[in-house]
Amino acid sequence: MNLFKRNNSSSHTSDHAALAELALSAIHDGVVITDNNGVIRFINPAASQMTNYGTNEAIGLDYGLVVKLESKEGRELLDRENPLIQAMSTSQPLEPTQFSLIAAQSGQRIPISLSVQITEDGSNSRVITFRNIIKELEEEGEQAEFISTASHEMRTPVATIDGYLSLALNPQTATIDERARGYLDAAEKASKHLGKLFQDLLDVTKLDDGRIKPHFEPVEMVALVESIANDYAITAKEAKLNYTFGSDEPMRFGENRHMAQVVYGFVDVGFMHEILSNLIENAIKYTPAGGSIYVNVRGDGDRVLINVTDTGIGISAEDLSHVFQKFYRVDNSDTRTIGGTGLGLYLVKQRAEAMGGKVWAESAFGEGSTFYVSLPRITSDEYEKRMIVVRNQQMMAAESQSAPAPTPTPAPVSVPTPTPTPMPAPAPMVAPAPALVPTPAPAPTIGQPAPTPTPAPAPTPMPTMAPTPVSNPAPVSPTMAPTSVQNSAPVSIPTQPTAVPTPQSPPIVAAPVNPPAPPSPPAPTSTLVQNTINNNLNGEIK
Ligand code: ADP
Repeated sequence: MNLFKRNNSSSHTSDHAALAELALSAIHDGVVITDNNGVIRFINPAASQMTNYGTNEAIGLDYGLVVKLESKEGRELLDRENPLIQAMSTSQPLEPTQFSLIAAQSGQRIPISLSVQITEDGSNSRVITFRNIIKELEEEGEQAEFISTASHEMRTPVATIDGYLSLALNPQTATIDERARGYLDAAEKASKHLGKLFQDLLDVTKLDDGRIKPHFEPVEMVALVESIANDYAITAKEAKLNYTFGSDEPMRFGENRHMAQVVYGFVDVGFMHEILSNLIENAIKYTPAGGSIYVNVRGDGDRVLINVTDTGIGISAEDLSHVFQKFYRVDNSDTRTIGGTGLGLYLVKQRAEAMGGKVWAESAFGEGSTFYVSLPRITSDEYEKRMIVVRNQQMMAAESQSAPAPTPTPAPVSVPTPTPTPMPAPAPMVAPAPALVPTPAPAPTIGQPAPTPTPAPAPTPMPTMAPTPVSNPAPVSPTMAPTSVQNSAPVSIPTQPTAVPTPQSPPIVAAPVNPPAPPSPPAPTSTLVQNTINNNLNGEIK
């Protein structure tokens, strides 16, 4: 490699080489250039400072000794799941990816964004560049903290609004006319949407700001995915969809298919629930009645490959490259009436990456979509070894808890008990904000929640919505080209319809069935409202 040699025959080339070296020495990004065997030929001062290797020390060494990486969450990277090693050994460039760089001697961890380019000058040299992103992360952390606090604070009043709306819509606690019911139904759907938005925001910020970290367990993946996916069989049936686990083909009538393959992974079971719930809820939401959903999981070399396939409305190529971005929602006539926050797929990507995984999607507009999740796979030997560690930890925990130690029964975690998965309750986006106090306001008290009623307990009505039918749903085309989806384009924040209908008189009447109770203490929240609020707030990770 002669990039930085100055004793070239042409003084012109020599000038350029000197300028290139000068530029590389002046920048703050680390640059390491290796030959096609990964032996370091050049390291600039920024890289030298970040890795703690002197320039002369590093030259001639294997890049792996100098550019030592952990996952961005601080997890040790196995060679086969280390994208730097993949790029270096396959001559495939690596897009900017976040890692933690381990400095020599001090062992200090520096968050970096690293990419690899392969030169096209015939030498196949590798150019590794990396940038310290600590400031960006701090700023993101502040933003995340703000969003998290704000969403947390705002969920409480939303739950209260929900509670009062439930009371107003409950025939046992309030009498309202049909028009008022229509307005309040719309208000309730909008408030549920808002509650879901705050919950999703809280969920995504918890991982972004490091409040939750993956808790890895050795798991048999087929059983785990099946147990999570099967929780949705009833919801799929209610939406008039065919649901199949363990195949990408429809099951014949009466067929009972069992997957023969046993595939082991090392994953966070809670994260797996969130990933699959989001993907399957989307498949149900975006597939018109009569369509099909397939969930499959299999070993693919050293990866576990899961796919959730549907024959639904599909996604255009243009939208497909953005759907994993925060807040991105496809806006077309099919999706406009289907509720959502645009955070689900971001959460899926975030959780999968935290476990060393990847997500991507293939889709044909109008025909259907397949979402893939690929995770590191472990061998049965690795699984057994990790299970021994888990059992030992469980035994030690049990022994330390009970004074005269009873013989503990170690509980294997190969088929984890799924936590109850929430039923999808997609709320329509059409959320008119009716002027609850119309201008000509004669007589009765308008839209006022019953002042501290003593309501009989009654179930909170949950709005559910059938997906908008689309004609001729066809199976997903096997020729769809995989689209690797990056987080590169600007975030698009969807706008919600804000049409304010002009209510005609007479105004909304929400009258209590029971006579109003005597003046109540300051907090106007009834037991029923409180219960509803508690229910709405349940399930949150504290
Ligand atoms: P949302 O809450 O809007 O569903 P997501 O992040 O889960 O947010 O999805 C982003 C967008 O991707 C959705 O608005 C939808 O347009 C599209 N999408 C997601 N899953 C599917 C699917 N299975 N079929 C068609 N479109 C989908």
